[in-house]
Amino acid sequence: MANAASAPCTDGLPAVDVAANLATVQAQVQQAARDSGRDADEITLIAVSKGHPAHRILPALSAGHGAFGENRVQEAGEKWPALRSDWPGVALHYIGALQTNKARDAVAISDAIHAIDRPRLADALAREMERQGRRPACFIQVNTGAEPQKAGVLPENLDALVARCRDDLALPVVGLMCIPPAAEEPAPHFALLRDLVARHGFECLSMGMSADYRVAIALGATHVRIGTAIFGTRPTR
Ligand SMILES: *Cc1c(COP(=O)(O)O)cnc(C)c1O
Repeated sequence: MANAASAPCTDGLPAVDVAANLATVQAQVQQAARDSGRDADEITLIAVSKGHPAHRILPALSAGHGAFGENRVQEAGEKWPALRSDWPGVALHYIGALQTNKARDAVAISDAIHAIDRPRLADALAREMERQGRRPACFIQVNTGAEPQKAGVLPENLDALVARCRDDLALPVVGLMCIPPAAEEPAPHFALLRDLVARHGFECLSMGMSADYRVAIALGATHVRIGTAIFGTRPTR
């Protein structure tokens, strides 16, 4: 970094004022809610701390923030047990692609799982919830852009997956989640997800990241997942 003198820690990351960034994002979430005539209380800001070390998460915890997102089970298991013993009220959201063989750890550590995209994963999560007696809220991820490399069920296969999750497995599915294609306008994808949520009678819409959360809120997001705008650029893994 050019300005190494301003770095408070020697983790090689540029200095970031996490508490100030969090306050800014919170204010913008509230503004976006007001602009669309919504109550900001119905929007959960998930601070996505994936890829960042615990010391960088601490300012957000100290500021009283209560919802965090991770997308690797092993990393979450290394960072969060210690943080949670100091901040027991915090909710941990697992977001994004989940391997079936990680279902056990995901159920053990998460309060919500924004990841279901195939029957085998749904089956594995249901088995683990039964075994562990824990029922994290579940979101089904929809691949609204039908991108081959991206996780998520294709929109045309959603009805069957919802039926499997809700009717056959009685999973606690609360809503849908999507990540629009990086090179496209996000609004049509958010609008599609909103329509799918309405069609299935779900309550929650997990959509919107650092670059597009205001658009997502205008289109009904109840959960926005924001990493970079709060914690800065993620270190390369
Ligand atoms: C990393 C990630 C985010 C946060 O992305 P930013 O652009 O850093 O805000 C949101 N959702 C998912 C599923 C992610 O993996």
